[in-house]
Amino acid sequence: MTFNENVVTYESDSPSTSTNSTKSSTNYSNLIPIDCLPFQRIANVIEPTCLDENNEPYLFNAWIVNLTSPVQTRDLIRFSTHHRLEDKKCERTKHLRRIRKAFPYENVDCGPHTATSNLPGLDYCISVLLAEATPDLTKDKVKQLLSRTSAQVTDLDPYILKVPSRRATTGEEYNACQKYWPVSFTPKAQFVNGFTYDYWDVRKLDWVMNGLDKAKSLAYEAKSRGELPIAAHVSSPPIEIPVPPGYPPPTPNMTALGYDTRCSSGNPLNHAIFNCVRKVGELRYKADAETTTINGNDNEKRSSSTQPNTTANNTPTLSGLNACQNGAEYLCTSLTLFSTHEPCMMCAMALVHSRVRDIYFLKKSTSSGGCGSVYGVHEMQNLNHHFEAWCLNSEHPLSNGLDLDDHISP
Ligand SMILES: [Zn+2]
Repeated sequence: MTFNENVVTYESDSPSTSTNSTKSSTNYSNLIPIDCLPFQRIANVIEPTCLDENNEPYLFNAWIVNLTSPVQTRDLIRFSTHHRLEDKKCERTKHLRRIRKAFPYENVDCGPHTATSNLPGLDYCISVLLAEATPDLTKDKVKQLLSRTSAQVTDLDPYILKVPSRRATTGEEYNACQKYWPVSFTPKAQFVNGFTYDYWDVRKLDWVMNGLDKAKSLAYEAKSRGELPIAAHVSSPPIEIPVPPGYPPPTPNMTALGYDTRCSSGNPLNHAIFNCVRKVGELRYKADAETTTINGNDNEKRSSSTQPNTTANNTPTLSGLNACQNGAEYLCTSLTLFSTHEPCMMCAMALVHSRVRDIYFLKKSTSSGGCGSVYGVHEMQNLNHHFEAWCLNSEHPLSNGLDLDDHISP
């Protein structure tokens, strides 16, 4: 696979991707500006705001009751907990506070019977959020559920109030939400974007496209075995594609495959990327165990190893990068992952933990992706490792097929 139609010649610019190699050895005709790549770099992910264009929060309907006696609080919290267990849709209310103090004189909608629900000695009423007001959860149903909870809350009069649909991430969002219902406040994540490239070497593009092609073939193989069509593999970059300055040299010839095995194993954690990172760990552990054996003078075992343990030019060996040693390189240090789908949050965190250098995927996971679609785990400032994430352009033919149902996290 070659992409010579995209190659342009640069005579004077010094590309930022050039590494320790001397300028005279760089062949500029092999460089492709990143604007011409069939990829989109996923960086500086913007978190969605909870406010609309008029700076009002997005809202949905919830069932609320006003208390008439402090004793009722405990029973109502029990109601909320019980109802939450029964109805998974209550996920929608987890960013909302359970209880609100409402001052009738501050233009806050306190629902009906506010005057009578003021508790003795207080000049505010206490309101409790019960549940999302779904079409199934009618007022009669809520009253029925209340009467089953305890005699103390049977006579309460539930009403519908509009409440914010997302948590607040800024002070402005928090204040805008407060007049509807108090929400939890979690400041926006800070993202980093530490790596910049102006050009790619054409050999890198060939390598990446072949890597994605291999992931896609593996996904079809998984599908033919009755699994979900999701696959990934980890590779060391070939020697002719230099790792940018500042990175430890990658383990040569490291390669590990993984595809989704949720169906056959029944284990919901057996995602393709998770399986693949686990495989890298097993390979390193195996190589390390063999080295230990070698030190015990069992040279025969070493020659039977399927993974090369040594190279002539002192590059690191599989066993030389023991993931268990303090200060040693970690599972995927300076390695690259190719995946059919954008990793979910769990897999994105596993990749942070593995210290992978960069990932390339064919398709975005719009409802669950942890590298741009829902969150930018790969560039979160408060995590101790960041990696590059690149997605193939959706018009590229290689991204066709492998569609998943929306509820499946890759
Ligand atoms: Zn996953």
